[in-house]
Amino acid sequence: MNAKIYFADLRANSSRNMSDKIHALLDQAGIASVIRNNNLVAVKVHFGEKGNTAFIRPIFIRDILNSISALGNKPFLTDTNTLYRGERSEAVSHVAIALVHGFNFTAMAAPVIIADGLRGAEEVRVPVKAKHFHEVLIGSAIIHADALVCVSHFKGHELSGFGGALKNLGMGCASREGKMKQHTDVCPAIEKKECTGCGRCIAACPVQAIAITTKKAFINNCLCIGCAKCITICPQGAVKINWDENSHLFQEKMIEYALGVTQNKKHKMLFVNFLTDISPQCDCYGHADQCIVPDIGILASTDPVAIDQASADLVNSQYGNSCSALKKNYEPFQDKFRALYPSVDWEVQLDYAEQLRIGKRNYKLINVL
Ligand code: SF4
Ligand code: SF4
Repeated sequence: MNAKIYFADLRANSSRNMSDKIHALLDQAGIASVIRNNNLVAVKVHFGEKGNTAFIRPIFIRDILNSISALGNKPFLTDTNTLYRGERSEAVSHVAIALVHGFNFTAMAAPVIIADGLRGAEEVRVPVKAKHFHEVLIGSAIIHADALVCVSHFKGHELSGFGGALKNLGMGCASREGKMKQHTDVCPAIEKKECTGCGRCIAACPVQAIAITTKKAFINNCLCIGCAKCITICPQGAVKINWDENSHLFQEKMIEYALGVTQNKKHKMLFVNFLTDISPQCDCYGHADQCIVPDIGILASTDPVAIDQASADLVNSQYGNSCSALKKNYEPFQDKFRALYPSVDWEVQLDYAEQLRIGKRNYKLINVL
């Protein structure tokens, strides 16, 4: 049987606005059967990096939170800290940027709780049976929540072609160490020119892998376990990530992390994809470039694979924006993501997720009027 994907377009009028349509979308997608009464519900979003403007509008998220609260539950907004140094690499700045971007309690009627805690180390080790990992490291608030509503801004991504529900689960729910393990097998390295020899990284390292030699820090790769704690603790930004550029491997690892989350929340998850402000890059960038296609609508489903497949198909069915980063494949049904990132096969994530039985690629699109 095909997975059901519910679709609300963005047409609105005086008797039916987008708020009405979002409530109808969630009702028809079965939110009441996924979230029981009196649940603590994690609403996984992306608050947007400082300078980014493409993240989902808070007013739409408020409608989703209202639907959850109306069923007698207590929702909270959540995301995990980033691997790289930025405005969202620890919980204090992360909550602050969420507030600046409009995700405050007054507007949302729900608190912001950073899932992997103050410095990205509050995690739960979830066992998985997969090719690359035997366990995955997930932000503890997501694991300890009763249910998960995963709200994703669908857009391009340089390593996975696009980022949608699967990426929001796999990368977005991982702790810092979990993110590091998806991105690279190589330990971080110290940029000697930037290191002042202050020793803060030495104190943070749980396995004494760092020492000072000739007044500069040095990482012993034989001892390093890749926990990533030294990356954000360094006040100079001298600890550099060795990014692994292998897209195929990255996507498979990301999907194994998604498996850890979906195993933990079986029958307690709803996915909502916003096909709006479809930028060529993810919301972790400190800017948002011109959209590659027009706004399309909002999708909801209990299947994270099918919703991403449907989202990719809908984006590719549009006319491309010739005033954007898109330089070819402007015609409907030409592949917009391969036009942006020719060396990335975005179908890897969908294929592997289906293989691991996270969901199905076949779907039926149902219009919500
Ligand atoms: S925390 Fe940064 S600046 Fe200080 S010793 Fe470590 S790498 Fe060098
Ligand atoms: S990644 Fe973790 S284990 Fe490796 S050097 Fe940094 S703090 Fe130590």
